[in-house]
Amino acid sequence: VIEIGQPEHSVVTTCAYCGVGCTFKAEMRGEEVVRMVPYKDGKANRGHSCVKGRFAWGYTNHKERILNPMIRERIEDPWREVSWDEAFSFAAARMRGIQTKYGRDAIGGITSSRCTNEETYLVQKLIRAGFGNNNVDTCARVCHSPTGYGLSVTFGTSAGTQDFDSVENTDVAMIIGANPASAHPVFASRLKKRLRQGARLIVIDPRRTEMVESPHVKALHLPLMPGTNVAVVTALAHVIVTEGLANEAFVRERCDWAEFEEWAAFVAQPKHSPEATAILTGVDPKTLREAARIYATGGNGAIYYGLGVTEHSQGSTTVIAIANLAMATGNIGRPGVGVNPLRGQNNVQGSCDMGSFPHELPGYRHISGDAVRDQFEALWNVKLNPEPGLRIPNMFDAAIEGTFMGLYVQGEDILQSDPNTKHVVAALSAMECVIVHDLFLNETANYAHVFLPGSSFLEKDGTFTNAERRIQRVRKVMSPKNGMADWEVTIALAKAMGFEMNYSHPSEIMDEIAALTPTFAGVSYAKLDELGSVQWPCNEKAPEGTPVMHIGGFVRGKGKFVVTEYVATDERTGPRFPLLLTTGRILSQYNVGAQTRRTENVVWHAEDRLEIHPHDAEQRGVRDGDWVRLQSRAGETTLRAELTDRVAPGVVYTTFHHPDTQANVITTEYSDWATNCPEYKVTAVQISPSNGP
Ligand code: SF4
Repeated sequence: VIEIGQPEHSVVTTCAYCGVGCTFKAEMRGEEVVRMVPYKDGKANRGHSCVKGRFAWGYTNHKERILNPMIRERIEDPWREVSWDEAFSFAAARMRGIQTKYGRDAIGGITSSRCTNEETYLVQKLIRAGFGNNNVDTCARVCHSPTGYGLSVTFGTSAGTQDFDSVENTDVAMIIGANPASAHPVFASRLKKRLRQGARLIVIDPRRTEMVESPHVKALHLPLMPGTNVAVVTALAHVIVTEGLANEAFVRERCDWAEFEEWAAFVAQPKHSPEATAILTGVDPKTLREAARIYATGGNGAIYYGLGVTEHSQGSTTVIAIANLAMATGNIGRPGVGVNPLRGQNNVQGSCDMGSFPHELPGYRHISGDAVRDQFEALWNVKLNPEPGLRIPNMFDAAIEGTFMGLYVQGEDILQSDPNTKHVVAALSAMECVIVHDLFLNETANYAHVFLPGSSFLEKDGTFTNAERRIQRVRKVMSPKNGMADWEVTIALAKAMGFEMNYSHPSEIMDEIAALTPTFAGVSYAKLDELGSVQWPCNEKAPEGTPVMHIGGFVRGKGKFVVTEYVATDERTGPRFPLLLTTGRILSQYNVGAQTRRTENVVWHAEDRLEIHPHDAEQRGVRDGDWVRLQSRAGETTLRAELTDRVAPGVVYTTFHHPDTQANVITTEYSDWATNCPEYKVTAVQISPSNGP
């Protein structure tokens, strides 16, 4: 323990881990953090926090942090520390050289859901205006892109519908493919409080999660087989429609009735009944019928879902099916109900809002829209390309084909976090300029030519937007250790490439965002300082923000029912790979662990383990704690087995926090049909005893 002494002053800022967005008071002595105290006036956390936000900030001072820019001619060469100017000149010359040789569209970039709205906005601006193409994508591609698609189609906006306070009016909470106790702990505490007051809980998850096992909580658990979400949600709809439990008055008033009738006829078919689908889904029909009845008739029904919904080949279909269910039961447009995506990263909502998709400008406006492009062109003083650019997987494919050769990666370790690692390695190896902008030499940096040191959240001024669309200030508590704020780095890189951007403070970037984005029109740092936070849409109609969406009418007008046919994933079990692997997180680690593993506390070093049912383990001669080899047709890894009946026979489960385990070595190339979100949650695998890594 290092004795730092008593704090001298404090700064209110926002946690940089998960999408709950807890507010903290950083108590400081000079430029040293003494402690992080959960802020009682924080609108998302109300004085609560989890172990990560409170204690896992020490990575800021970790010895592996890179503070000087580095370059190298080839990835085989050693890194060479250089001045910022030399790094920018080198990177700009390479990127421009690639465009001269291969064409304007041969470079692009990936924005980070860990960075601020302002930083993300600048990266997409650099790409659209400076690179002259729309090859910008975000790490949200690999998590909640199906949410964007599914909710836009049905409700008219990708926004989650409620605020966290809404849970206090919830009578039935249905959690699908999420484990908030590990991944969104402060929200989970609020939900558990409501459950202890008598609200009912339905959990649809292949694994008996901590929410199911919570003391004093009686949960109805539907342990479905991975990959059958659409079949299960359709079976719930079947019960609701065939037992006359739909809220037809709500549907007549708020939705397209003809589309509802078509959908109702579809779900009512006998082949969609719980009994007919039980073998496929693995869910007991009686339990499923009970769940449908509770959700439809138990009062305010709120659906919360996570990556167990989105990271499937039918991720977008499941989001649409969930929206159908909420509309059919009238569970939209008031406190206590809704469709609530539990977004993973601190600013995944914001990075999507800020125009990080290759087809959408900030505020989710399509790049092909002339009127919208005109607005941006006038303010940015450039001509924009109306053609959508490449998504991340398309960038990788194009790199292997030799047509995409330069990539700027802002704050993400794509080598660890994207599926099918071998494919990513091949793509990065083929590129002539990879620029990594990060805190640490991550796995992606092994294939980089330029490393630009980044800043931690403690060194940033800006805003994050949490899972309930709440825009909150991130305030600098110490100077950037590398001497340059992240937004200044992007501006300097742009300038070296011949595109000038002029701001003297992130508040000016937010002013520009507000001027160009109708849902942010009323947002300013002055308002955030005054109110603490606001939830978008925040504009003339809603000057103090919008906690609950779709009150009185959907953003698109009438709610749209869409028929959602279940289509089995191409990832099938068979004699070689007879088990299905699904993945998740533990409370004390965060994603690939870049920050939590670099915080000096033994708790963070818990290893990734493979949960396997005792029956499957016995068949393979595996005992609790043994090393096992986990193989799929994409690759293999080694980890320790944990025997448990939390998973059903035929299903295994692991986390993905450690680089040595590299769970993504074994995940496949399959992805969501609408958005290319990878199918991380279903991989056919085999397990055999091993002597260790
Ligand atoms: Fe940070 Fe999320 Fe924990 Fe809150 S719940 S302290 S936002 S990691």
